Amino acid sequence: MREWEKYIRKVEPYVPGEQPQAEKVIKLNTNENPYPPAPGVEKLLHEMDADVFRKYPDPACGCLVKALADRYGVSEKEVFTGVGSDDVLATAFLTFFNSGKPLLFPDVSYSFYKVWAGLFGIPYETQVLDEEFRIRPEDYKKENGGIIFPNPNAPTGLFLELNAVEDIVSANQDSVVIVDEAYIDFGGKSALSLTKKYDNLLVVQTFSKSRSMAGMRIGFAIGDQKLIQAMNNVKYSYNSYTMNTPSLLLGTEALKDEAYFQTAVSKIMETREWSKECFRKLGFTFPDSMANFLFVSHPACPAETLFEALKERHIYVRYFREERLADHLRVTVGTRKEMEELFRFLEIYLKENGYQN
Ligand SMILES: *Cc1c(COP(=O)(O)O)cnc(C)c1O
Repeated sequence: MREWEKYIRKVEPYVPGEQPQAEKVIKLNTNENPYPPAPGVEKLLHEMDADVFRKYPDPACGCLVKALADRYGVSEKEVFTGVGSDDVLATAFLTFFNSGKPLLFPDVSYSFYKVWAGLFGIPYETQVLDEEFRIRPEDYKKENGGIIFPNPNAPTGLFLELNAVEDIVSANQDSVVIVDEAYIDFGGKSALSLTKKYDNLLVVQTFSKSRSMAGMRIGFAIGDQKLIQAMNNVKYSYNSYTMNTPSLLLGTEALKDEAYFQTAVSKIMETREWSKECFRKLGFTFPDSMANFLFVSHPACPAETLFEALKERHIYVRYFREERLADHLRVTVGTRKEMEELFRFLEIYLKENGYQN
C-alpha cells in the first residue's frame, strides 16, 4: 500500500437507486414523479438565454428563498435552500450534530443518515421501529445530540401524526430535531406550523418528488432564523455557489402554479389508493402509505425473486437487501397506466409460478 493510500478517508457510500438508460422501462424505483413539472417551467426553460450561465448564480438564492417564504408564510430569514434536500440535510448534519452525543434516528429510515454520520464522524444510535414499522416517540426521550426522521417515513410510507412529532420536538428542546418531509405533500400534515413554536425544529422538504424536479436538484429547510443563519455560515465556509442559475429560476417558476401542483399530487394519491386495492387483491401486505410509494410484501413469493422477474420485464422497483427490509419491495406510484401494466404482469407471474391460485 502506498503511504498516501493510508490517509484516504474511509467512507461507506450511499447506493442510489438505478437510473436505467434504456428508453422503454417502467421506472418505479426512485420515487420520482411520473408527471412533468408545471407548464410554466417548460416555457421558461425554452425562453432561457444562455447568457445567464456566464455569471455566477446568486449565492443567497434570493428569488427562490423569497418564493418559498411567501408560499409557506415564513420570513426569508427562516428559509435555507440547497442542491436537493440531500445537500440541505448534509449541511444540517455538519452544522448541528457536534455535541459528541449520539444522533437518534429509526432503524428503518432513509439510509443516507448513516452515511452522513459516518462521513462527518457523528455518533448515532438507531431506534427500533415497532412490529408494524411505527416510530415510538418514547424512544426519542433519552440523552442525544440530535434527532432526525422522515415523515412520512421511508421506505415504509407511514405518517407519524403531528401531535407525536410535537411530543418528540418538545421533549428535546436542547437538541436540534430535523423532520425530513420529502413526501409530506402526498397527504400528510407538515410540521412547518410547529417551527413558530419550537426554535429547535428544522423541517426539510424537496422539489424532487411532489414537484417533479428531481433532475434540477432543489431542496429547502425552514426553521428558526438562528438555525438558518448557522447553516448559511457552514454553507459559505464550504461552497457559496451551491444552486445553479437554471435551478433557481425554474424552481421559483414552479412555485407559481399551485393549481397544477395540487392536481398532480392528487392524481398520484388517487392512483396510490387504487394500487393499494390491487396489491391487496393479489395477497400483498403493506403499511398504509401516505407517500408516493408502497412498501409491499407477498406471503409466498420472495421479494428478491419478484424484483428480478420485474426487472426482466423492464419494470424497475427498489429492493433493499438489509435485514428488516429484505421481504419487501418499494414500489413508486407511477401513472395509472404504468400501474395497470405492473398489476397485469404480477397477476400472471404469481399464478404461473404457483405463488397464487
Ligand atoms: C428522496 C429523499 C431525499 C432526497 O431528495 P433530494 O432529491 O436530494 O431532494 C431525502 N430524504 C428522503 C427521505 C427521501 O426519500
